[in-house]
Amino acid sequence: MAFVVTQICKDCVDTACVDVCPVDCFYQPKEITEKTPNMLYISPEECIDCAVCEPECPWEAIYPEEDVPEVFTSDIVLNEDCDTNRDAFVLAEVTEHEPPSAEEVAARKALFGL
Ligand code: SF4
Ligand code: SF4
Repeated sequence: MAFVVTQICKDCVDTACVDVCPVDCFYQPKEITEKTPNMLYISPEECIDCAVCEPECPWEAIYPEEDVPEVFTSDIVLNEDCDTNRDAFVLAEVTEHEPPSAEEVAARKALFGL
């Protein structure tokens, strides 16, 4: 089991999660494409299931694999892409972002029926 970044992260990418991961297992695509959207990816091979990142994500985009909502099931395989297709990814770097408001988070989640 590993933790999974869901599409809630797409185009938000504030990287708060990257800062706290003890094993540096967040990746970002070298190129943004339809198959590799602009979001972060957790390596299931490297994630040690410590759960530290989940509460740090201001967009509430990270779930343990067993709790990923059905609407994001395809994101489990999407995250695996950073292991199976590693050449297309680089380690994610921390960048400064203003955290979203509670209203922005709720509006973003509502787009996915959450
Ligand atoms: S903190 Fe959440 S929204 Fe920000 S990059 Fe990490 S997973 Fe994506
Ligand atoms: S659960 Fe721990 S090891 Fe896995 S991505 Fe989150 S912080 Fe990193």
